[in-house]
Amino acid sequence: MLKVSGIETFYGKIQALKNVNLVVEQGQIVTLLGANGAGKTTTMKTIAGLLKPQKGTVEFLGENITGMRPDQLVRKGIALVPEGRAILSTMTVLENLEMGAFHRNDKDIKKDIENVMQQFPILKEREDQLGGTLSGGQQQMLAIARALLSKPKLLLLDEPSMGLAPLIVADIFKMIREIKDSGTTVLLVEQNAKQALKVADYGYVMETGKIIINGEASNLLEDPRVVEAYLGKK
Ligand code: ATP
Repeated sequence: MLKVSGIETFYGKIQALKNVNLVVEQGQIVTLLGANGAGKTTTMKTIAGLLKPQKGTVEFLGENITGMRPDQLVRKGIALVPEGRAILSTMTVLENLEMGAFHRNDKDIKKDIENVMQQFPILKEREDQLGGTLSGGQQQMLAIARALLSKPKLLLLDEPSMGLAPLIVADIFKMIREIKDSGTTVLLVEQNAKQALKVADYGYVMETGKIIINGEASNLLEDPRVVEAYLGKK
């Protein structure tokens, strides 16, 4: 579904990505792991059209989408939930959800909002509450639910569990599994390597702008290099 080939992305003269290659198969959850500053967010932003790679290509469903704008990519079926959630804090939960469908003009928007609220009942309970007054976990759910309203084929999730309490983190991972079960493909950036590998089909590990390890998620959970650097001793 998604094929990233040899991308090199720079911030001015600083090279953040060095020949990054990765593939996401339709229907899978693929996770991208690595320490702070490894280049995970830069990879997500390059895929989502927020940064242009100096070299390399991004293909989505067989089409070369390198350098396309984020709004064009949303229409093609790629939605990004950025690090830090970025919900609209002075708008209500319902208004935030409506924003997620901004580019759509079909008749199903209302029904889809109802469905998302059924899937995440806390959003229904709080539909008139301002986004900024939700708890961190609720804001993350809202950010993901809003992205789902663009009807993505591929959902890019950048550190969805960051800063959340363990019980809430469990809810977020459950939600990610449900998203996959409903047919949406997911590329997941996480610091929480163990839980990410448990939910994922395939994984990539980045270090200083490069992919250094990749494999089936179940194999990575046992890989001594991954265990030592990212999972800690049992
Ligand atoms: P984190 O988990 O801390 O977000 P990351 O793996 O997502 O880390 P990136 O945010 O992609 O890492 O950063 C990759 C490299 O690019 C880092 O060395 C970082 O300092 C650098 N970088 C990121 N954003 C910018 C920017 N706007 N200007 C200059 N350098 C940047």
